[in-house]
Amino acid sequence: MKITGIETLVCHARMRNWVFVKVLTDQPGLFGWGEATLEWHTRSIVGAVEDLAELVVGEDPTRVEHLWQMMWRQHFWHGSGVVRSTAIAGIDLALWDIVGKLHGVPCHKLWGGPVRDSIRLYCHLGGGNLESFYETPVDNARQFADLAREAVAEGFTAFKSMAVPPTMPVEGLKPVKAAEACVAAMREAVGDDIDIMVDCHARPSPAMGMKFAKAVDPYGLYFFEEPCWPENLEGLAAINAAVTTPIATGERLTHLAAFRDLFAVRGCEICQLDLTHCGGFTEARRIAALCDAHRIALAPHNPQGPVSTAASLEFGFSQPSYIICESVHNDVPWRQDVVDEGFTIDPATRTVTPSERPGLGISINEEEVRKHPFEQEVAQRVFYRDGAAGDW
Ligand SMILES: [Mg+2]
Repeated sequence: MKITGIETLVCHARMRNWVFVKVLTDQPGLFGWGEATLEWHTRSIVGAVEDLAELVVGEDPTRVEHLWQMMWRQHFWHGSGVVRSTAIAGIDLALWDIVGKLHGVPCHKLWGGPVRDSIRLYCHLGGGNLESFYETPVDNARQFADLAREAVAEGFTAFKSMAVPPTMPVEGLKPVKAAEACVAAMREAVGDDIDIMVDCHARPSPAMGMKFAKAVDPYGLYFFEEPCWPENLEGLAAINAAVTTPIATGERLTHLAAFRDLFAVRGCEICQLDLTHCGGFTEARRIAALCDAHRIALAPHNPQGPVSTAASLEFGFSQPSYIICESVHNDVPWRQDVVDEGFTIDPATRTVTPSERPGLGISINEEEVRKHPFEQEVAQRVFYRDGAAGDW
């Protein structure tokens, strides 16, 4: 069997362009789906997939590790840059989809699963709606509480919020008090049985991240995410050591050695590798083994499109350390029109039972995708009050 071509299908979904990757084979009807969404870098990804196709078209798609090694190593530059690692991921996910289809089993069964009966989903406040999740001002604690109640009313037992504002490298008490007020309001609104997460989007410096982490520590968050830049390993380690709240990070790391360095300093308790950015299942399974050695939990980053979600679930049904799946259900109203999924979500509990369909268990409706061609993503640019550029 040979790979005969690799196509990308771009689907504009407001804040992101979902980049679906389709790997075609010479076996009639056999192809695989992957996803290589990288917001604000869509054109680069489409080009990177084209470059990688030169290496793998004509090769046997079932030699997934061999093809991964070629894509990572060949032509001098390693695949660690996020554009290339994302493109590799898109192709790698599609190759595993093909292998599952060839053997007639879901991907998790290729890797010794299922290791659990169900997976819990968590949502973003507002279900991933751009304005609710990213643009609710942190001086509006009441709105955080209202959105938290909504998430629980929709069946979720866990949700994530953006309750930490962008700050300059050092600021005083005001933003810290505002973040604390939001977390307090959400806890008050939903009680102790619901798990609350806060994502800092790596906005703070290590000093500010420490202040925010300590301020919200008494509210028993499920995890506190990216409290400083991923490059600040010693900052992550210091914050993780200083609070009881588990620190989560890893969505911007693209390869095994970066996770090795993070875990070596104990920079987190929860690894948020992104299957669509860190080289796909092939590299993620190595990172997961490293997590196990450090007793670090897995909660993959997954705010992208539906192939990414199917991949996260297949991974979760095969990984003992996987604790929860990030999910987006309200980013665009037609999300479910572009995909047919093999797994089942219980709407009352927002838990997922595994797919029995082969591979990733999904089919993409290409006609629906074509209704949403590429558009420039909605800009999300941060400037501090003095005009200096900040992190979104
Ligand atoms: Mg995040």
